[in-house]
Parts: sequence; structure tokens; C-alpha cells
Amino acid sequence: MASFEAFACDACKGLFARPQSACRRCGAPTVLSVNLSGRGTLASFTTIRVAPTAFQGQEPYDIAVIDLDEGLRITARLTVPEGREAGIGDPAIFEEMRPYGPAFRLI
Ligand SMILES: [Zn+2]
Repeated sequence: MASFEAFACDACKGLFARPQSACRRCGAPTVLSVNLSGRGTLASFTTIRVAPTAFQGQEPYDIAVIDLDEGLRITARLTVPEGREAGIGDPAIFEEMRPYGPAFRLI
């Protein structure tokens, strides 16, 4: 299972999906890379049928808002296995980082 790289404030332990030059919660200057479990649940999802230029030819594809087990909320590409249907609260797991962001798979 791939771990998901996020960023945590050394002072308040606040989590962020992207690198920060300073903590957006408490202002502390040290935000470090951390490895999260890559497990989470679907808070929301949608199917993109009309893609922006950069993603044309990939539609339809699914995008989800995922609440990671550690408390961080992220937006990611979602793979739904053949024969499955996504639902709010369904578990998902991190697959890989792609050039445009993280990709998760419904489990
Ligand atoms: Zn902080």
C-alpha cells in the first residue's frame, strides 16, 4: 500500500495537502513532510463528463473529496472498480501521485 505524503506543522500538528512555507493555522515556520496511511472515506464525488482542455480524452472520470483517516480533507481523482458504484462514506485508498494530483481507488 502506498503512503500518502502530506505536510504537518511541527508546532500545532495541523495537516496540509501541499508544502507550506509557514503554518496557515498557527504561523509556526516549520512544516514537515509526513507520510499518512493513504486511507480515507468519500465525503463527496462527481463524474466529469465535459473535461477541461488538459484532461480532454480522459472523460468520463470521477473526482472525489476524500476525508483521510488522519483528518485531512483532499480532492483527488477517483477510480471506481468495474461493477461498483461510489457512495458517500465509502472507503478509498491512495494509489499514486499523478502530475495533476493524487489518485485514489474505491475499496
Ligand atoms: Zn501550526
